[in-house]
Amino acid sequence: MSDHTWIDLRSDTVTRPTSAMREEMMKARVGDDVYRDDPDMNDFEREVAALFQKDDAVFVPSGTFSNQLALMIHAGMGDEVIVDQQSHIVQHEAAASSVIASVQLFTLESDRGIWDLDKLDKTIRQRSLHTPKTALICTENAFGGRALPLSYMRAVRQVADSHHVRVHLDGARVFNAATALGCHVSELAACADSVSVCLSKGLGAPIGTVLVGDRSFIDRARLNRKIMGGGMRQVGFLARAGMVAIRTMSERLAEDHALADQMASLLEEIPGVTIDETRRDINMVFFDVDDPRKHRLRDYLWEHGVKINPHEGVFRFVTHHDVSRTDIEEAIGHVRDFFTG
Ligand SMILES: *Cc1c(COP(=O)(O)O)cnc(C)c1O
Repeated sequence: MSDHTWIDLRSDTVTRPTSAMREEMMKARVGDDVYRDDPDMNDFEREVAALFQKDDAVFVPSGTFSNQLALMIHAGMGDEVIVDQQSHIVQHEAAASSVIASVQLFTLESDRGIWDLDKLDKTIRQRSLHTPKTALICTENAFGGRALPLSYMRAVRQVADSHHVRVHLDGARVFNAATALGCHVSELAACADSVSVCLSKGLGAPIGTVLVGDRSFIDRARLNRKIMGGGMRQVGFLARAGMVAIRTMSERLAEDHALADQMASLLEEIPGVTIDETRRDINMVFFDVDDPRKHRLRDYLWEHGVKINPHEGVFRFVTHHDVSRTDIEEAIGHVRDFFTG
């Protein structure tokens, strides 16, 4: 089913449902999920909650949707949310935090995803006539191409607990993080009150994100999902795909990581290429090339059947289920030809 015309290294979001997933989707029993009548979705949400060792889960259309639900439930209008300057919530959600969640973001700078914990502690504040209340700390793991250590995640949780502030984990690629760290996703989930888990990245499902948390949090998320127009009807098809994503696709992410390792070593052989080794934990390779021609690389590769994103201070190439070892050899061969040819 995969498209052999293109080798697509832009993101793992480009993955298409596998044939096993498509077969499962056709078996969906379906019902109206707004009435909680979709049996596959009910089973799926229960299974994801159990896997993350939380009370409950709710299926939503996207990771942005899920993060925004978490912000609006953990924090009231005008409350403050501490978040990394480079996080998805700040950089890639089109200011939804102000438009939808109506919270104030305090962007705390980190050393590539790792906050100075003393600084974090001092950033948390009490409400007064002049100051907002800090209601939430948002973590992200994997953070770009980096898997943040479990010990660090626990330390952030401790700081939050000491101030009775809640923690939301943007775990869009939490299975990649757990794979890289050699831990179970529930250990990362234990460091947060809620976790957002994307099904449509490396896990290959066509659509969807699951938000997990305690019972009252998920009850409110279900209500707010409806308010946001995210109450969907016969979603069993997506639940079936999600089930395959969670049960089987999560087991193979190490292959994507190994493929990224191979891609990094091939890139390293090209003169002028520098790999960013500090974010080489998952299925991504961030690199730069000391060559002014780099700004034409994207067009050159597209002409040779390889899709990449534009150079934005750095190149990011991503491996996933729909690229093979030979695809990577071919793609990086074109990069080498471009710079050395
Ligand atoms: C992809 C991603 C999201 C969600 O993105 P959507 O396109 O809204 O599904 C959220 N956080 C992180 C860190 C991501 O990588």
